[in-house]
Amino acid sequence: MELGHFFYDLLVHNEKFSEKSKDTQFSAYEDHQCPPITMLTCADSRIQGQILGMDLINKVFTVRNAGNQVARNKGSLAYALTVLNTQIFFILGHTNCGAVNFAAGASLANVRKLGDTKDTSPVTPVTETQKKSGGIQIVSTIGESKTISNLRKVDFSAASREVQREILPLTIPIERGIARLVKIGDEKKELAYLSQTNVDYQVEKALEYYGDRVKEKKLAIVGGIYDFVGAYSNTRGRVVVTNINGVYDKMKLQENARVFCEADTTIDKSSESYKLCCKLIEEKVSRI
Ligand SMILES: [Zn+2]
Repeated sequence: MELGHFFYDLLVHNEKFSEKSKDTQFSAYEDHQCPPITMLTCADSRIQGQILGMDLINKVFTVRNAGNQVARNKGSLAYALTVLNTQIFFILGHTNCGAVNFAAGASLANVRKLGDTKDTSPVTPVTETQKKSGGIQIVSTIGESKTISNLRKVDFSAASREVQREILPLTIPIERGIARLVKIGDEKKELAYLSQTNVDYQVEKALEYYGDRVKEKKLAIVGGIYDFVGAYSNTRGRVVVTNINGVYDKMKLQENARVFCEADTTIDKSSESYKLCCKLIEEKVSRI
């Protein structure tokens, strides 16, 4: 993009937004914010607010980093969850996540893991011996999956130290997921499964820090995947709920989602959109 076009877009499109917005819209929140949702998502440019289909202003406190990692932005999250007291913490990963794939490449090359609390220690680069030995060995009667072969090609050592440091903590959840890839047998689903495993781990971390608020029913932690490749269904662009407060059994997840919707008195249970919501729970509260 030329710099001129950047200025053009910025000035012209923002002016349109400013003109169509009423002053009363701004005065409602000009001196405070009261978002009900904190969303932690990946910095990936393919994820933007409109995928949720909502006007997000003053509704969503957004924190973003590579791989939607809870430990990377503890301060911002603590502010949103304990000062602004948002009732929902939504951790949103996505399909074909570069950070997840990068961490998978590092795991397969057997690069030393960095724990969340140890990220000041130096990063150990991949050695030639490690590269040759191939790190984690995936053994299967049907041979190595195509996904694993492709992930082995990720050149982790080419990344800067700063990038490595930020991504390496992801090897912890990714190593959990990687051993199961051979059983799935579909490349799109296999990569999505790694993102899903990462979201499960991030929900687990969030429960470590904010589990008390969940027990007191002040907070619900929801994990999800934005699927723009059609890994969960043939419909691309769907956001799929994969975890609620650490629950990841598909049937229990759907049951929980139904209970939450039924208990909400602000939803008109006789409406067509509620019937649609119940149908979509079966399709979009799901797992690989
Ligand atoms: Zn990503």
